[in-house]
Amino acid sequence: MKSRGNADSLEAAIGDRIAGRRGPPPEMDLPRYAVDRAAHRLRGVPFVESPNCDARPDADDISLLVVHAISLPPNQFGGPWVERLFTNRLDPAAHPYFETIKGLKVSAHLLIDRGGRVAQYVPFHMRAWHAGESCFDGRRRCNDFSIGIELEGCDEQPFAAVQYTRLAQVAGALMAAYPAIRPARIVGHSDIAPGRKTDPGPHFDWTRFIYGLEYPR
Ligand SMILES: [Zn+2]
Repeated sequence: MKSRGNADSLEAAIGDRIAGRRGPPPEMDLPRYAVDRAAHRLRGVPFVESPNCDARPDADDISLLVVHAISLPPNQFGGPWVERLFTNRLDPAAHPYFETIKGLKVSAHLLIDRGGRVAQYVPFHMRAWHAGESCFDGRRRCNDFSIGIELEGCDEQPFAAVQYTRLAQVAGALMAAYPAIRPARIVGHSDIAPGRKTDPGPHFDWTRFIYGLEYPR
């Protein structure tokens, strides 16, 4: 499914699962996550500070989750480059593509790599610079009120199963900590910046993600 799709049907899908008509996939028995509400960080996750953030206009307004995909160089996985981009340490000479994004100052709150490893770069109460020019439900500047999660991925290849598991667990923890984030307020970057962004891309399976989601009711 290319876009976020119909929120009502996704809510219904979650309801089906909660009602026991579908059980959680076995990999859901992996570690759970929780947000340290004082530090606005995920517990037990490496924190690498990104300078690419600032204060939200309203620190209490955290009400949207934006799913992204990124790979550096494009369509290649496994290098240190995304973290270096987020920390302004990406060497433009290391790859021809890096020269084209020299000076780009971006970040996301979280990154989930191909192996399902989660890292945090910006505390959740701060504004990460992930969405850019964007609009959700008539409201612009989605960075102001959203949490951004990058999956290591691209438009051309499927995501790893463990990434869905981790994303669902992390999203559940975020929904518990920031209850204004509901299933209908989880979107892809392409949904809030149509025509400008394609991520998380055609291979991202929204239904799979939403079915795996566990969140407080
Ligand atoms: Zn994006």
